[in-house]
Amino acid sequence: MGPNRNRARKLPLLPLRGLLVYPSMVLHLDVGREKSVKALERAMVEDSLILLCSQSEINIEEPTREDIYRVGTISKIRQMLKLPNGTIRVLVEGITRAEIVEFAANDEYYEVMVKELHEEETAAPEIHALMRSVLSQFEQYINLSKKVTPETMAAVMDIDQPGRLADVICSHLPLKIKDKQEILETFGVRERLEKLLAMLNNEREVLELERKISQRVKKQMEKTQKEYYLREQMKAIQKELGDKEGRAGEVEELRSQLEEAQMPDKVREKVEKEIDRLEKMPATSAEGGVIRNYIDWLLALPWTNKTFDDLDIHNAEVILNEDHYGLEKPKERVLEYLAVQQLVKKLKGPILCLVGPPGVGKTSIARSIARSLNRKFIRISLGGVRDEAEIRGHRRTYVGAMPGRVIQGMKSAGTNNPVFLLDEIDKMAMDFRGDPAAALLEVLDPEQNSTFSDHFIELPFDLSNVMFVTTANAVHNIPRPLLDRMEVLYIPGYTEIEKLQIASNYLIKKQKEDHGLKEEQLQVTEAALQRVIREYTREAGVRNLEQQVASLCRKSARQIVTEPGNHIVIDAEQVPDYLGPSKFRYGMAELEDQIGAVTGLAWTEVGGDTLVIEVTVLPGAGKLMLTGKLGDVMKESAQAAFSYTRSRAAQLKIPEDFHEKNDIHIHIPEGAIPKDGPSAGITIATALISSLTGMPVSKEVAMTGEITLRGRVLPIGGLKEKSLAAHRAGIKKVLLPKENEKDLQDIPDSVRNEMTFIPVSHMDQVLEHALVGEIDFLTTPIQESVNEDESGSSRVCH
Ligand code: ADP
Repeated sequence: MGPNRNRARKLPLLPLRGLLVYPSMVLHLDVGREKSVKALERAMVEDSLILLCSQSEINIEEPTREDIYRVGTISKIRQMLKLPNGTIRVLVEGITRAEIVEFAANDEYYEVMVKELHEEETAAPEIHALMRSVLSQFEQYINLSKKVTPETMAAVMDIDQPGRLADVICSHLPLKIKDKQEILETFGVRERLEKLLAMLNNEREVLELERKISQRVKKQMEKTQKEYYLREQMKAIQKELGDKEGRAGEVEELRSQLEEAQMPDKVREKVEKEIDRLEKMPATSAEGGVIRNYIDWLLALPWTNKTFDDLDIHNAEVILNEDHYGLEKPKERVLEYLAVQQLVKKLKGPILCLVGPPGVGKTSIARSIARSLNRKFIRISLGGVRDEAEIRGHRRTYVGAMPGRVIQGMKSAGTNNPVFLLDEIDKMAMDFRGDPAAALLEVLDPEQNSTFSDHFIELPFDLSNVMFVTTANAVHNIPRPLLDRMEVLYIPGYTEIEKLQIASNYLIKKQKEDHGLKEEQLQVTEAALQRVIREYTREAGVRNLEQQVASLCRKSARQIVTEPGNHIVIDAEQVPDYLGPSKFRYGMAELEDQIGAVTGLAWTEVGGDTLVIEVTVLPGAGKLMLTGKLGDVMKESAQAAFSYTRSRAAQLKIPEDFHEKNDIHIHIPEGAIPKDGPSAGITIATALISSLTGMPVSKEVAMTGEITLRGRVLPIGGLKEKSLAAHRAGIKKVLLPKENEKDLQDIPDSVRNEMTFIPVSHMDQVLEHALVGEIDFLTTPIQESVNEDESGSSRVCH
């Protein structure tokens, strides 16, 4: 085979851009370039023949010889048509392959010397086989590619010249010009078919891949389209059902809320992320609700919002005095705090811990602090908190999870620098759910609380601007590490005179206001208030007193409404008309001197109290019985009193074997309040001795003190509270341990002036003052033991 070369001839040349014409192809060309138009015109003058060659680069406007492929197709111009835009449309038919031998010198158009190339038609079986493979490949290609019509296939099948077949098929393939040119330049028929077969194969594979990809894309599209459609439908359904606020409106509102909210960038980012997540949730999903709740919390917290402190000390002093009578120490401490704050600007201040019985104004002084500083006030009660999560929150994975109380408090404060009262810090418990005290430690520690982490909120919250104040009834129940971080201020309880002042200057005013009574409509005399204090309350603070005053106001209000224009005056005699019969007997704990009953003084968490200790000696076999809810320490104290009495039996003229022939019952009545501590020691001993000797105990005396086995009296704690209680009970004489004498200066003058305080160091002195009658049995001098070392005087005694 091989090209059949003949003589060269001269022809005009039309360079084609992005196009290639094979022999036997018929097609339209639009010609615009001037040189090309000239070439066409020239051809028309001759025999309408022209050489069509492709340019190697499509965008070259004026190709040089090098830009034009050497092999092209001699074609016949069948038709020419001038288009309105100046270009010419020609219909050409490819005749035969030809090769440029030489470019002629012609400036008007391209003119070349060409040599025709003819191929031999062969009918070798090998060629047939190749043709068949090409056809079947082409068929598959057509099936895959929708660009070629099936009619083309039918036309192609009819071609029996192998060279032409290759050319026609090739003209239908979307090949690059370079590849098409390669086929054009392949003169050998067999070679040409082989090359085409490889190209077809390649094209088919590409098409198959394309199809796979498009199928995948289509599937994906269908899925998202389906979801979109369903979601739109759901929206429509919700609208029909009256659920106007779809998630879209909700999300929009949250976004605008976020825009206005002030918060650190980190928090903002988190909220944005969560809003995006929420947006993707269907409106009814439970998880959407959880996310919404979280977003609401983040938006509601006062991340940066704060109030400005009023650091005017005089103003603060006025406010504190306006709200509270007395309470000098706490007030002074607060003013000092403010002074330092003014100098330092930012104080990692001490945490105040107000300790005292209920109703002494711990909460309300904290509220006053907030008022004087112009800060918000928040109070949370820690009583009964036993779960760390109550302080620090639950993780959001829990159903119904919430932030802890601290964060809840901050939210309701709305500012990040409130006065935050942690009430009843001594009433926290601890169990398997973790230690709330440890979590609280993080809240109160100035080193850590600028990045307090709540399990629910997850982002660190700055608590360092908060002023924490805590309260407790007793110090000894406060977890030690917490106590170390706080400055304790004791508020011991009020004397009767103080209560009177508080009632007439504060409580009455407050309650009248609360009950809508005008100043002149109700008047409560001082005598009446005194009667209320003495006969209707028995407490260290003024909480019950306030309730009773409220009662007076309530009843008066009713009277005034039923009889308008009425002015009510309540004097001492009228008190029972309003409050019913008196609840407590004012006066001595006992009405008469009694045998075996002694008034002791106790100190409990609700303040000081009096309690009567009774001892009965019954014929029996030497049993010692203790009843009345006593703690272990008090039981031991009773044992000590008992042993002391035995050891002094001779001097006391008690039969030495009294403990063998009698049962002794010691009872400490009144109330379900657990009583503990060693301070009832001398009281028990006195009651026991009175009962054994038959000598009565003076009703005017009350006592407190620990007893040793040899009768020494050891110091106790809470003398002030105890004295106030004794005063409330109308006691005239108090026996106290000698070593507590120094504490007498803490006792208000009003109390000290009305009672006698007798310091004692030995049991004999106690008996001397407490028992009524001749005490001649004590003439034997007492051996004062010097080396008594069981005293344990370093212990804190109650
Ligand atoms: P606590 O927190 O110690 O249990 P509260 O603060 O609840 O006591 O006080 C009970 C009531 O007694 C409050 O209405 C308070 O205003 C009033 N109160 C207590 N102490 C004083 C005081 N020194 N002056 C005026 N009111 C007082």
